Amino acid sequence: MAQQKTDILSLLPEQLEAEITAMGAPKFRAKQIFRQLHVKRVFDFTKMTELSKQFQAQLNDRFYINMPKIEQKLASCMDDTVKYLYRLSDGSCIETVRMVYHHGITACISTQVGCKMGCKFCASAPLGFIRNLTPAEMLGQIYGADADFPEAQQISSVVLMGIGEPLDNYENVMQFLRLLSCKDGRNLSLRHVTLSTCGLVPRILQLAEENLPLTLSVSLHCADNEKRDVLMPVNRRYPLDTLLDACGTYFQKTGRRVSFEYAVIAGENDSPAAAALLGRRLRPVFPKQRPHVNLIPVNPVAGTGFHAGHAAAFQKLLEQEGINATVRRTLGDDIKAACGQLRRDTIEKESVVSGIEGISGQ
Ligand code: SF4
Repeated sequence: MAQQKTDILSLLPEQLEAEITAMGAPKFRAKQIFRQLHVKRVFDFTKMTELSKQFQAQLNDRFYINMPKIEQKLASCMDDTVKYLYRLSDGSCIETVRMVYHHGITACISTQVGCKMGCKFCASAPLGFIRNLTPAEMLGQIYGADADFPEAQQISSVVLMGIGEPLDNYENVMQFLRLLSCKDGRNLSLRHVTLSTCGLVPRILQLAEENLPLTLSVSLHCADNEKRDVLMPVNRRYPLDTLLDACGTYFQKTGRRVSFEYAVIAGENDSPAAAALLGRRLRPVFPKQRPHVNLIPVNPVAGTGFHAGHAAAFQKLLEQEGINATVRRTLGDDIKAACGQLRRDTIEKESVVSGIEGISGQ
């Protein structure tokens, strides 16, 4: 049974070496297998031709290769964005988006099947939480998208901003980051990785201790505690003062500035008063630097009642408050590139086919 076998794609070189030598094979075999998996991208033991047939069979008895499978691929007609729906070994599905920017190619990956955080503007929230992704399932999203394009168009940066809250799957995300940046494997510098959180304060402080060179991005979306309590229920546990204190600590410990995400929602968080409040809250966090906010017009998601606000107008208001703001280019509008929409549509279709009515409460 796959469950009783070890997920080999989630193992670091030293962990794989311990497993392989425990099977009585020499150390160099572990190096060969790691290279086959993470450099050559061979995901079938019987195709690892430098290994004997007998050893391939032993590996097959001991391990399984947990690669997500691309089930659906939507390519934008408006830009080069591609959205993948991956099917996992337990039948769950997740999304990954591949975006082309002038500075390179970015993959936005999922870290959980569903999410517990319940943000009101999010397509994933009503579907609830199923489970955490394994390191292999996170890495597999990148390997799958890499395999879909020529070598010169491989993914050069990764954002953990798809379905799920990365810091709610802390250990697996850390293991994924170690694998992603492993010199003998994918070898992608963590300087090209952005981890986005809705604000799990204890985990932000834990991440600060890891001192990784990644960029931490906090999904703020609102500077008013009462409104944020409603928009993002995580705020009831970790209100803005506590969250921004943690951002300041993160900066002091790592020397890396935290960036902030702000989905501009018409009539909710885009007024001059909202900009002034955001300025008052953010300026003290990094006293010697102007804070940076990424503005995104909120994605229209059925049932939320939210509409995109005027991001460029809000950007001007923020500049007056001493905040650097950039309006994020919206990519792949025609292919449902907003987080969780393709998965939500797929689950709704499957629910209809199997006779389950509706999706809420799952
Ligand atoms: S926006 Fe992110 S953290 Fe919030 S519910 Fe959606 S996936 Fe979870």
